[in-house]
This record gives sequence, structure tokens and C-alpha cells, in this order.
Amino acid sequence: MTEKWRLLDTGVLTGAENMALDDVVLECRDQGKTPNTLRFLQFSPPTVLVGYHQSVRQEVRIDYCKRNGVDINRRITGGGAILFTPTCLGWEIYADKTASGIGDLKRDLDRLARRICNGAVAGLRRLGVNAEFRPKNDIEVNGRKISGTGGTERGTSFMYQGTLLVDFDVDLMLRTLRIPVEKLKDKEVESVKQRVTCLKWELGYVPPLEDIKSAVAEGFAEVLGVKFEAEGLYPCEKRLFEERLPHFQSDDWVYMIEPPEDTQGQVTAVRKTPGGLIRVSLALNVPGNFIVNSFITGDFQIFPQRAVMDLEARLKNLPADDESIAQAVRNFFEETGARIFGVEPEDLIELIYEAVKKKAFAVLDVTLEEANHLMTVNFMPDEILSQHFDYLLLPYCAKLVDCDYRKAEGCTMCGACSIGDLYELADELHIPVRTIQSYEHLIETIEEFKAKGARGYVGSCCEGFYNKHHDDFVNTGVPALLIDIDDSTCYELGEEQEAYLGNFEGQTTLKKELMIRIIRALHERGRIGGVNLH
Ligand code: SF4
Repeated sequence: MTEKWRLLDTGVLTGAENMALDDVVLECRDQGKTPNTLRFLQFSPPTVLVGYHQSVRQEVRIDYCKRNGVDINRRITGGGAILFTPTCLGWEIYADKTASGIGDLKRDLDRLARRICNGAVAGLRRLGVNAEFRPKNDIEVNGRKISGTGGTERGTSFMYQGTLLVDFDVDLMLRTLRIPVEKLKDKEVESVKQRVTCLKWELGYVPPLEDIKSAVAEGFAEVLGVKFEAEGLYPCEKRLFEERLPHFQSDDWVYMIEPPEDTQGQVTAVRKTPGGLIRVSLALNVPGNFIVNSFITGDFQIFPQRAVMDLEARLKNLPADDESIAQAVRNFFEETGARIFGVEPEDLIELIYEAVKKKAFAVLDVTLEEANHLMTVNFMPDEILSQHFDYLLLPYCAKLVDCDYRKAEGCTMCGACSIGDLYELADELHIPVRTIQSYEHLIETIEEFKAKGARGYVGSCCEGFYNKHHDDFVNTGVPALLIDIDDSTCYELGEEQEAYLGNFEGQTTLKKELMIRIIRALHERGRIGGVNLH
């Protein structure tokens, strides 16, 4: 017989009310007091929701939201920050892990995400939209995202949710989320529009909300092989909701995750993985060589949700050596059965190593705070003095916008931009230097120097470029020490495609003083230059 599930439409609520209900409906489902459920939800006023592991201060333009009546809240699920306007429809599946259409997948997150998303896909197709599942967890229409999804679990049950864009306010999204765009130019709005879509843009009209809900419910019924029956909240849910709502309205919940203000003794490593961006920040006791505290944030999804806090607790007061770190992380995942979508425990171990080892840059007269602006490729920071760097690569975007050399090699050292002093230093120390014009030019230049026998290079690029091209850098096989750029970069302005082609029109500034100090320190130790590469 076809399994019966509840169809729960909680209508239009505030962010806190909706987040409290997420928690309550999942809790009651786990306690076996309520049936498996498909819930529809909407928000008013517009609400920015950060992922469970994200910091509001890092992700949201708080002042803008406060001034313009946009609510801020925190989801009980991982993933990235989203804006939920009244023209978005949320759908959520709450079910026992052994439920119909689900049970065979409970340990395989990828297949579970695919199965559930295919329910929403089937619903969208009923509306005439050519939707498809895009691994790991998006639903797209001709390459543009229409629904982002994610989930969490509690005991024997799980919740999996998605946001369906019915109509979409790009402008409000750019103003509320810290997608690092400085000025709202048409070009930036356009670039978002190339990546995202909504029902209105696909169909040319907004179908009645009831038709959308019916189609989505029919899609889930078909894919999960269940039958829905409309029902309201159960008394146990109503009671628990009243009890828990104040918590979800409180700053303790919304601002629960905040990076420590004091960055003294703190080292950070960040990496984009297939499962999302992970940022590991560690407070280190350098003389004692142990981790005082750790702070792991990002838009990844971890199951169960509390696993991040538990992992952070395991890292507390841990000796900061490779063996202790690897053992603690591996044991943690083995013992708890925690899983991160698209991220292996080894990726986390590498990131923690990288952060811890940044203290080794002290040999170059670099403080811990400054070390966070350094990135290494094909070697770990504690191997810095066994590397040799033979040339210097600088980005064209740091040259003056109207300089004749902006799109050409060279510099007259006129002093009008931060590049000049680096050219001067390279000249003094006889280090070959090149201005990199585009991604292709970077790879060509690395290959050219490699063929001439160079062993490594010092370069400058922004964290966004490094994260995006991390694997490409590694694949060249060449060791590199990269120093972050000082201010807004093409990545922050959403113009990376222009920069990729060498057409970025903004100007960046090198961390000139830090670069000069490092290059001089490497030179004094015979670690840079000295090879004839001409
Ligand atoms: S210092 Fe060099 S790159 Fe900068 S504006 Fe002058 S000539 Fe151009």
C-alpha cells in the first residue's frame, strides 16, 4: 500500500518562526510523534538566512538589512547564506531514515540528495520548466540555478530542504548578502542573472502559488512513491514551537557563530572544495605548540550538524603536530560516523596542517597575523627554507589603469603604483620578474621558466584567485609562495571572468612592504634568485 505522508503548508511566517518550525517539526518527527512530512513555507518580511556554520558578520550586510526591514536568521542546516523573499517558495521533506523511497539511501548523501531533488525536478517539469538535478545539490534549468538545497539529521530522522525561486530580486540579494560587490553596476546584476533563474524568467509569467505547490507535491509523490494528505501542525509541534520560538528570535541564536575579534595568535587556512568553502581558524599557543581553540566555518554541509562543534572540541588543547592532528581528525570521523558532503577528512587534515604551519613563516620575520596573507603551493610553510624561488610574478591588475605597461611587460618604476618598488627590488637583486596578464599567460610563464630550470617563484594574487585555481597551481608541479593582495579584487567585484581574459578594469594594491620584507629575507638566506633564466 502507498505510504501516506503529511502535506503541511505553514504559509507566510517570519524568519524566526520558520526556523523554529524547522527545528520543532524535525524534533517531533524524530520522537515518532508526527508523520513523514512535506512542508511548504514562505517568508515575510524578506529574510537573509545564513547557514548553520556561518557567521552573520562575515556573510550579511547587517546595516543595510536593519535599515530596510530585512530580517536576519540562522538555519539549522549547513550551506551558504540565502535571501528568502516573499516570492520564494521553500519546500522541506521531514522523514524517518527508513521511510519509503529513502531507506535504501540513508548512508549515501549524494544519492539521497539526488532522490529528493528529483522530486522537486519532477514538480518543476509539471509546470513546463526543463529542470534538472545538478550534483552535488542544486536544481538547474539550462545551467542556471533555480533551487539550492541542503539538509540535516537528528536521531532517526532527517530534514532536506530547498528554495524555489518563483520571482527573483537580484538587486536586493546583492545588497543584503556580502557577495563582495562594491557598487551595484548593471554588469554585476547581469552576471548574477547568467547563473540564476526563476519560474517567472523561465515561463514568462508567475503561475498561481497553489499550482506551484500542487506540482511540486505531485513531483515528490511520484519520485518517493508516497501519497500526501493535507494536515496542520500537531499539538506537540504547537507546544514545542511556543517554547522554542524565543530562542530562534534571540541574538544568541542568530549571532551564535562569530569569529573572535582578536586575531592575535590566530592562523587561518581556506580552501574551496567540491563540498564548499572551508575556512579553518586556529588560536595557537606558539611556545607550547598546541591549539588553544579552533573555529571551522564555511558553506559546507556536515551530518550530523553538531559535528563541527564536536570536532572543534576535539581540537582544543591538541598538540599542534602532524601526527596528533591527523589522528584526532581521523578518529573523530571514524568514531562518530560524521560526514561532510563533498569533503574528505584528509582535506580537513591538510587545511589544519596548513594553518598550524603558518607559524613557520616567523623565520622570514613575518608575524602570525601577516602569515595569514601567505599561501603556499606544492610545499608546506615549514619547508620554506628548503625551497628555492627563482623569479617573481606580479598581477597586471596592480598596475595603474592608464599605465602604458598595464597590458605589457615592464615598468619604468615611476612610483605611481605599488608595482614599481617590486620591479626596483627585483632589479637590485637580479631576480627575473614578469607581469601576468591572464590565467593562460600565468600557466605559459610557469611552463617557460620551468623549461629553463627554475625551481619555484614568489608571486602575488588574491585569495579568490588562489582558491579558484588551487588545483591548477598544484598541477604545474612548481613550488610557489603567494602573497595576498591588499584590497578589492576582481573576485570581490564579481569580475573574475574579465580578469581571466585580462580585461579587469579596476586597480589593486600589492602588500608591498610585506612582499619586500619576505623577498629580502629569502635573499639573505640564499633562497631567491641567483639562476640565470634569461
Ligand atoms: S610604477 Fe610601473 S607599473 Fe606602476 S604606473 Fe609606474 S610604470 Fe606603470
